[in-house]
Amino acid sequence: MSKVTEKQIKKLKSKSIVPPLIFLLLSVLLGAILVAVTLIATFAYLVQNRYVEKSIEASSIQNSVDAYLEEGYDFDRIFRILQRNEHKPLAICVYDEDNNITASYGDELSYVQHSLFTEGVNIRLFSDENDEHIGLVNNTGINTVNVDIKKLWNNFHNVMRNTDEEAGLFDGMSSEIYSYEVWIAKTLESDNQVMYLKYNQSIYSNDMLFVLITLIISGSIFFILLLVYITNVISNISSQRYLLKLLLHDNLTGGNNMLAFRTEATKRIAGNLKKEYAIVDFSLMKYQSYSTLYGTAEAEKLLSAMETALCKCLSKADLHARINDGDYILLLRNNAKKNQENTIVNRVDNIMCELPNLLRTPLSKSGSAIKDLSNIKFNAGIYNINPGVSKEFRERRLKKNINIDQLYIKAGIAKAVLGDESGYKVYNHDMWEKELWEHKVEEKMLDALGAEEFKVYIQPKYNPSTNELEGGEALVRWDSPTEGFISPGRFIPIFEKTGFITKLDDYMISHTAALQAKWLQEGKKIVPISINVSRAHFAEPNLAEHIKDLVDQYPLPHEYIEIELTESAFFDDKKALLTTVRKLQSYGFEVSMDDFGAGYSSLNSLKDLPLDVLKLDADFFRGDAFAGRGEIVVSEAISLAKQLNMKIVAEGIEKKEQVDFLAKHKCDMIQGFYFDKPMPADEYVSRMDTTRQEEP
Ligand code: C2E
Ligand code: MG
Ligand code: MG
Repeated sequence: MSKVTEKQIKKLKSKSIVPPLIFLLLSVLLGAILVAVTLIATFAYLVQNRYVEKSIEASSIQNSVDAYLEEGYDFDRIFRILQRNEHKPLAICVYDEDNNITASYGDELSYVQHSLFTEGVNIRLFSDENDEHIGLVNNTGINTVNVDIKKLWNNFHNVMRNTDEEAGLFDGMSSEIYSYEVWIAKTLESDNQVMYLKYNQSIYSNDMLFVLITLIISGSIFFILLLVYITNVISNISSQRYLLKLLLHDNLTGGNNMLAFRTEATKRIAGNLKKEYAIVDFSLMKYQSYSTLYGTAEAEKLLSAMETALCKCLSKADLHARINDGDYILLLRNNAKKNQENTIVNRVDNIMCELPNLLRTPLSKSGSAIKDLSNIKFNAGIYNINPGVSKEFRERRLKKNINIDQLYIKAGIAKAVLGDESGYKVYNHDMWEKELWEHKVEEKMLDALGAEEFKVYIQPKYNPSTNELEGGEALVRWDSPTEGFISPGRFIPIFEKTGFITKLDDYMISHTAALQAKWLQEGKKIVPISINVSRAHFAEPNLAEHIKDLVDQYPLPHEYIEIELTESAFFDDKKALLTTVRKLQSYGFEVSMDDFGAGYSSLNSLKDLPLDVLKLDADFFRGDAFAGRGEIVVSEAISLAKQLNMKIVAEGIEKKEQVDFLAKHKCDMIQGFYFDKPMPADEYVSRMDTTRQEEP
């Protein structure tokens, strides 16, 4: 999957369903307004047209009335003549200049009629320049037709509904949908009298139908397209939301996943520069074993319960995400006030105490509790993000340039120190250095072996009574062209961790055997050299045969090679170890127990394993405690070894008094800086021929 950036997530998150919905609502509203405006505008246009027509008719009547008046007709006679006219007005009313009625037939113009249409929309009619043609004179003096839109729409609707389909669309629809009365004023030439003529006017459905149908069709098309578009936009947004959910959530528990965590944690850390945070690598230990024991469904239930429990025991300012299995990343904020002890470490401690109790509560009322909580333990590595620590980091926080993954790796490095133990460890820089070194070693070790960068150093072992060289121990040194001279303490533990130690052991066995064979051929008086064989190597079923094959590559009697086991090897498969030891001895190799007395209780192993040599650990001779109690322990260990028919070698001897003491108690050999440090093979050769006559 391509890397999803914070920007892309932001873009996805920013798309909301609300704007298109508002847009849709606005469009519907606008459409309705458009229909209403068109309806009114069409209506106004028609009213205006009718008005102009009637005004022309009124002008012709005005001319006739003027002509009759000139001929001396009175109004009664004029009205009788007019009533015979086909286009006669409904009423005529003549006012003199004092607003008194001179003559009339039909209704009289009154304020009651003016306010005939009091509700609805006002449609303004225009009057001509002389203000002679007045549509309706209402009491405000504005020329208007007051239209009752509701009535207009209802009539129109009824007409449409009652249309006889067979009569044809327009024929059937030429029904009246609105009628109103108009008074038109005309000034008569005689005595400044004003004649008001009343007409009844009608608007028919077919006058408006075309406009309305066009409007409705185009409006519907527009509305359908709009609806399709908006539905599309909304469905796009919903699928994006779903995608976001998939992207940012843990499918199993519904909580955050790492992607969501990264974005949110960066935002919080950068947004609260003065706050102290910590990234925690938090693990539910042995989740895999739990899953194997109780099945996937039960294990997943445990994870869901963990999610709920974590949500409960973390505060709102904290954040968490599941990485995989039972591994979590947490962002914890230190909420402690000044002088308060609530550090991040305390919080992790509390979380570890609280979680088992929370897990004991069933997930839901109907849900069952977690099957087995007895083996549930947690461990955590803590990386503190201290606001005051580094200027560079502060700047990175400001720029949101924080690599959460790297901080998580560092927290993980701290957790790795715990190994299989529960608890927590806080990251420090030494851990980082160690991690870097481990990576470097792992990267270089194989090439280094091929390039023979590992050198066999030999530390002589002397008989303290005769000062004669009686043995040696092969100890590895790494002469790296890039890293310089490296002592085994810096790489052996890494080799042991990676399993590469078996390759190194083979290398040392071959190279030591080669050296011994060469020296033997050269006629030198060689003595046995012991080689350290790692505990990891003893897991191999055919180790004895394998060692024999390695040594047999060279013409060397097996008695010149001794195999050293560390005490810890005795705690693995004892039976297999015993078989290997017996086989090695049957091939003629001597087998010794290295570092006897360091750490483990080993008396029992002495009982079980018929070893040839016992190497007393250097720790016996360290510090001031040697004189007195130490001497008693060492002398007893020597006598114990003698009784078991074992040779005894004392390691790490640095002082003359120790040599004297060991000589007195008949210790067979001494290996220590008092005599010699481990040395290159060339130098060791010089020790071989000579007997140490003098003390250094
Ligand atoms: P070890 O097998 O117990 O080796 C003895 C260690 O004690 C050596 O350290 C040696 O230099 C040191 N030593 C001897 N006499 C004195 C003394 O008087 N004073 C002090 N301070 N130290 C003394 P070195 O060479 O650093 O090796 C450390 C350990 O690394 C060895 O302990 C052994 O367990 C392991 N090792 C070394 N070479 C190999 C190897 O080729 N294969 C394996 N598997 N392990 C090796
Ligand atoms: Mg050793
Ligand atoms: Mg040792």
